[in-house]
Amino acid sequence: MCGIVAYNGGRRAYEVIVNGLKRLEYRGYDSAGVCLVDGDVKVYKQKGKVSDLESFIGSSPTDGSIGIGHTRWATHGEPNNENAHPHTSMNGHFVIIHNGIIENYGHLKTRLERRGYKFNSETDTEILVNLIEYIYLKGNISAEIAVRLALTKVVGAYGIVVICRDEPGTLIAARKGSPLVIGVGDGEYFVASDATPIIEYTNSVIFLNDNDVAIIKKDELSLKTVMNEALEPRIQTLDLDLEEIEKNGFDHFMLKEIYEQPRSITDTFRGRISADHKNIHLGGLYQVLPRLVKAKRIVLIGCGTSWHAALVGEYLLEEFARIPVEVEYASEFRYRNPIINKDDIVIAISQSGETADTLAAIRLAREAGAIVLGICNVVGSSIPRETDAGVYTHAGPEIGVASTKAFTAQVTVLTLMAMLLGRKRDIISQARYEKLISEMMAVPNKIEKILESNEIIREISAIFKDSTNFLYLGRGYFFPVALEGALKLKEISYIHAEGYPAAEMKHGPIALIDEKMPVVVIAPQDSSYEKVVSNVQEVKARKGVVISIVTEGDTIIKSMSDHVIEIPKASEIVESLLAVIPLQLLAYHIALMRGCDVDQPRNLAKSVTVE
Ligand code: GLU
Repeated sequence: MCGIVAYNGGRRAYEVIVNGLKRLEYRGYDSAGVCLVDGDVKVYKQKGKVSDLESFIGSSPTDGSIGIGHTRWATHGEPNNENAHPHTSMNGHFVIIHNGIIENYGHLKTRLERRGYKFNSETDTEILVNLIEYIYLKGNISAEIAVRLALTKVVGAYGIVVICRDEPGTLIAARKGSPLVIGVGDGEYFVASDATPIIEYTNSVIFLNDNDVAIIKKDELSLKTVMNEALEPRIQTLDLDLEEIEKNGFDHFMLKEIYEQPRSITDTFRGRISADHKNIHLGGLYQVLPRLVKAKRIVLIGCGTSWHAALVGEYLLEEFARIPVEVEYASEFRYRNPIINKDDIVIAISQSGETADTLAAIRLAREAGAIVLGICNVVGSSIPRETDAGVYTHAGPEIGVASTKAFTAQVTVLTLMAMLLGRKRDIISQARYEKLISEMMAVPNKIEKILESNEIIREISAIFKDSTNFLYLGRGYFFPVALEGALKLKEISYIHAEGYPAAEMKHGPIALIDEKMPVVVIAPQDSSYEKVVSNVQEVKARKGVVISIVTEGDTIIKSMSDHVIEIPKASEIVESLLAVIPLQLLAYHIALMRGCDVDQPRNLAKSVTVE
């Protein structure tokens, strides 16, 4: 949440920053702002998107080659011009951009007020920039020391970049809890919340760790801790193409990402299935595999879509590896004093690898002595760095705020894990293992086939675009898919939607059903097919409108449904990967027809780095 971009080098900073903010806009779009240094220090900020800021500013306001920029996802104070970042300290010495939450801002504010400080915004950020200024003026010290001292007084999370008017050639960046990456160019440095704004200039990056402070001059970078211990910057080379973060002819990132899934799933299992298709290698788990095979319990934690992937994982791991699994919302897990045993394996699932609640949960699990693994998409992000081992999903950058390809990549990893553990624990035979591997490898082609139904799904969407409620039903592996389908619709079309286990409908939600209620039934031919047939009958008996997802060639549910979307036949182990695709497209088309901003839905942001 919140996108940060900063630049110090030889280019026009305004252009680098505004282009970068556009790439990071998925992290927040309540307001945008820049601070540029060109003789003087100038701040421009505006409620709304980066394009609103551009129209407000007009043409490039300065040729200056140092500056900072921010796109906000409001936590403290409504989205308006006053609360937009950058924030300037009362006497104008410091300007800051911030991602995160200063939890003790109330206490700091009272203390600063007593010393005569006044504030223009409702943000926690403005308190921090004034605290820095207060310490700076009182101690008559350098900007860097003032920033570091101020940070020792702060409770909470921050990724910040600061400019001091008295030292205008220097950027000071620091992180704790919120991500920051530094791009290292030739005589230039970039700072950003993630690598997407940097990659068109350089793929040499330094990921900041918690409590790191970087002092960045045009051609010199020094790294230290908040406590002034010198650090050696570790420059890594990123494997990321510009093409991966462009729309490439699609109208929206979400649509591009839905269509990418045959490729992204292939990338997830590529190199992990042996050339003879007889085995699975998850290199990232190599060291912990013996412990994993003997695990008495696995706890899967995540938030939002990742939590849905975890539910699919629970079903897969219990069925194929016969290990008891619990699925937890990271935010609940961390605060409810959970029982964590030393031989538990905790697996954190997060697209960004930065989800604040999930990070806090894994710290708790590690303190309790559990082995913690990560399933993340963003290489070099915080969760992979704070876990004992893990598996990258390799789905490529996901820019659409509503997750699509990250979900299928997470489920793919969990499927590979379930197969591998099932084989290692001798629950499944070698012959079955190989059959399941071939089922996995057939998924990308089957998804290509489902994508051919796009037009049918668009037509169905046109019929239901004005509905105010939707119910999604599924059993077994299709229950998490129902939850995920409902979440997609809620997120981007703002239609109220609920996912339910199909059999639970009669225990409550059935009261909602009438001729106006579209019910999406995910009913491919699996072991519970007959039961789902009865559930569809129950909906039809109450005049509900049924949109069903069925296996190609189905006749029974088809004959009872008002609208049908077919998916190819597949083994149950991979069917959730197929069944979710039409639901992603359905949400996409409905949102589009309702005039919603598909890639940047209201109130949401990607990479939830606040608790
Ligand atoms: N707390 C700051 C604000 O509300 C930053 C928010 C964020 O990082 O999401 O402006």
